[in-house]
Order: sequence, then C-alpha cells, then structure tokens
Amino acid sequence: MEILADFSLDELVEKFNGLPRFRVKQIFDAIVQGKDYAETNLSKEIIAALKPNYILKPVEVVKVLTGKDGTKKYLLKLHDNNIIEGVFLHQNYGNTICMSTQVGCRMGCKFCASTIGGRVRDLSAGEMVGSIAAINADNGIKTARNFSNIVLMGSGEPFDNYDNVVKFLNLITNKDGFNVSERNISLSTCGLVDKIYEFARLNFNITLCVSLHATTDEVRKTIMPIANRYSIAEIVSALKFYQQQNNRRVVFEYCLIKGVNNTQQDILRLKNLTSGLICHVNVICLNPNGGSLKATTRKEAEQFVADLNKNGISATLRRSQGSDIEGACGMLRAKTLNKTKSE
Ligand code: SAH
Repeated sequence: MEILADFSLDELVEKFNGLPRFRVKQIFDAIVQGKDYAETNLSKEIIAALKPNYILKPVEVVKVLTGKDGTKKYLLKLHDNNIIEGVFLHQNYGNTICMSTQVGCRMGCKFCASTIGGRVRDLSAGEMVGSIAAINADNGIKTARNFSNIVLMGSGEPFDNYDNVVKFLNLITNKDGFNVSERNISLSTCGLVDKIYEFARLNFNITLCVSLHATTDEVRKTIMPIANRYSIAEIVSALKFYQQQNNRRVVFEYCLIKGVNNTQQDILRLKNLTSGLICHVNVICLNPNGGSLKATTRKEAEQFVADLNKNGISATLRRSQGSDIEGACGMLRAKTLNKTKSE
C-alpha cells in the first residue's frame, strides 16, 4: 500500500496520468482536509480503483485530551497501528501544531519519555502531513490560512529521519497544498552536527532550535548520549554556518534540572557560547516524568531567565502549556503503551 500524502500534487498528476487534473486535485484536497474515501466526493469508480492500493488517510485521531488552557494533546494512529502524539496549542498569535517525526526515539536523553522504548520506526513524509491534516480537521480547520505554526518538537529526532523530514517540509510549504510559510516552522534537534550543515545548505527559512540543556560537554554527556558524538563547540560552529546561510535567529532550548545545569557558571558559559550568534534561549522547566532528575521551582527558573537577561542574553521561560494532560514529549504515548501492556 502506498500513502498518497507522500506525494505532491504534481507528482500525483504524473502518477495518475489517466485522470484529468481536476480529479487528481480532488484526491489531493481530500488529503489536505484529512478525509478518508467515504468522506470525499470522489466517484465510486475512482474510489474502487484507488482504495485497494492507496491509503488516503494515513493518520487517525484516536484520543484527544483537552487541558484547562485549551491545549489539546492527540494520540494518533498510523496505518500499521503504531501510535504517535501531536499537540494543538491555542496561542494569542495563532495556533501551533507540535508534531512527531518518528515512532519513539533512539537518542536516549535521560529526561525524555519519547525515548523510553527506543525508536520503533521513522514516519514517512506523508504520515507527517497526515498528522497535520488530522489535527487540523479535528479543529475544523479546512485551509492552511487558519493555522499558523508548526513545530517539529514532538517524539523523535527530526535529523535522524532527515530525508523524510526534508520531504515533509517541501510538501507542507508547497503552495498547492498546505502552503505553510517557512517562517512559521521550527525544527528542534538534539544537535546532529553533520545534518545541521547539510540542512543549512538547503536554505529553508525555518527556525532551527537546538536542545542544549548543558553548558559543558561533561555535564551534557550525563544527560544526552549524543554529546559523546558532538561537542557543544561543534554545535555552535554549525549554527553559525546555518545563520550565515539563511539569516535566521537560532534558538537554544534549555531545560532546567536541579543541581545539574542551573548555576551562575552556567549563565556565564551560556553568555560565552552564544556570543557571535543571533539567538534566543528558551528556558524550560523540567517535567520530571517520574525519573530521577529533579525540576527547579518556577521561581528559580524565573530567576535564571532574569540572570540571563541581565547578562545580555535574550531568554524567556517557556509557558508550560498542557502540563495537566501529560504535555511533555512522549509522556502520553508512554503511558498508553504501558497501560496496553498491563491489560
Ligand atoms: N529530538 C528533538 C525534538 C524532540 S524533543 C530534540 O531533542 O530537540 C523537544 C523538546 O522537548 C526538547 O527540547 C526536549 O529536550 C524537550 N523535553 C523532552 N522531555 C522533556 C521533559 N521531561 N521536560 C521538559 N522538556 C522536555
């Protein structure tokens, strides 16, 4: 079975060259609107020809949890019954969808629930498109005009699924499809340096975020195994290259862990390593996930941000949206898998 969302409109026109373009456009619109065959106005003949060979709706909503602040957490099912997550955030400057790029993750970060069961498989580009379509449809959003931002910050490491993620970015920004502006897309990586260089050369105008979480390689190695492969200095050089290529401000994510990365020396080191880069530091309060790492208090986090600002570093404390609905990366999926196992 092929997933139709893996293709652009032009590729589908070529693929189904026996059909008039407007028929193919109907198929394509169904993909964008997150519809399955029965919900479309495609003719019986076309449906009969397509259905045995092609998946029209690759992602289905199986559960939605709505938080007090309106944040919606989605459990999404793929055609092979694998489960991924997505989040829909209402913000005053527009809606944001946070999406996954892999089923699970193999990066092994100590604080992150997505990595607990390892990586099951990569998502195809069409499955990423399908998760956006499914979440949009659930929110009554029919056209790209009604939603604004996409962040690739859910489960998985985008640069560990590089080719499909690049294909997804091409599909989602295509003017015939969702037509999302590159400026409204952010991609978060734990810092696969060779891929940052490769990606920089593609000149996407998207915001690149790096999960830093430590200011020395020694400390970073204790919480993020990827630090054994790439040093912080190498990451910073790669980001400088990214910035030269596309002039975008880069973002560091910095999750505060009590007694690990929140000292005054960390602030000074952050000052040093960010100098020469146009960047922003997104400070996050750790969601302890029941693990051994401890969160700081909100007050300590606010102080950390204030100290960064005092040192001339642009930084904000991320609002913790959806914390009442297992909002952090991979938590809901991990919980659901556990429950299924014990049933
Ligand atoms: N693999 C990518 C994207 C997924 S993680 C990356 O590493 O950037 C997205 C963000 O959520 C990262 O900054 C990650 O560090 C953060 N995160 C994961 N688990 C968390 C937790 N328990 N509490 C707070 N933030 C968390």
